[in-house]
Amino acid sequence: MTVSVSPDIVGALNWARGLIGAVDARVLLRHVLRCPAARLVSRPETVLNQTEWSHFQSLVERRVAGEPVAYLTGEREFYGRSFVVTPAVLIPRPDTELLVELALAHFQDRRAVRVLDLGTGSGALAVTLACELNEPDITAVDRSREALLVAMANAARLQASVSFVLSDWFSSLAGDRFDLIVANPPYVASADPHLDEGDVRFEPQTALASGPEGLDDLALIASQAPHHLEPGGWLFMEHGYNQAARVRSLLTDAGFSAIASHRDLADIERVTGGQWLGR
Ligand code: GLN
Repeated sequence: MTVSVSPDIVGALNWARGLIGAVDARVLLRHVLRCPAARLVSRPETVLNQTEWSHFQSLVERRVAGEPVAYLTGEREFYGRSFVVTPAVLIPRPDTELLVELALAHFQDRRAVRVLDLGTGSGALAVTLACELNEPDITAVDRSREALLVAMANAARLQASVSFVLSDWFSSLAGDRFDLIVANPPYVASADPHLDEGDVRFEPQTALASGPEGLDDLALIASQAPHHLEPGGWLFMEHGYNQAARVRSLLTDAGFSAIASHRDLADIERVTGGQWLGR
């Protein structure tokens, strides 16, 4: 697959396009050349040096083998901001921006809202909410130390004030209560063939799979959240395309009110939430 003489930008893109498609080819070449997209178009005759060409070839080969573009470039955009990602964290999905929208719709005009992001991974939710809310007081937990390091790097990079805690869901949060809890937990059924296909093969299985029906973590969070919500506080959880009704019943069983599911950009019920009125 390797070509020994370095090509120019057009030559490199033509070579890669046939292997990984034009979009990924451009993203990877921009990453290698550390240049804005416009330069690929405005200076097509620029010849790559040997280091750039070898680097580009190795990234294209890794992409051919299935590695996600975000792990190859080390970043992914979420809600208009660039996040560092490594294989220790799930790559933020556009679907999850719905959770941000719902959280903001409920709390935008309130100051000093206490927010908890459960299983923060890259920190996409916690850091975005910290950037978008007024005077936020945000705690983000993950049980993976490696994930927390990525999330902390993102908070620093985006100048977001977030408290990070190593915690398996609520395990390190005894006695703490919040006005809003958000979670994008693992929710794929552990035998789902989707886990062995495409880009997700390279993502942490612990961030994806959750028991035979994918509901184990959603159920645990729904049942424990009432111990960690202020009266009037809200819980919003992302879930799979066919889990909305089950998640609504989990919230009903746990004693939540105002339970509703919300549709993502693909018109799929993707987030279900409810309000805890206390008991
Ligand atoms: N939406 C992701 C997928 O389909 C799953 C994310 C998750 O489990 N939280 O790969």
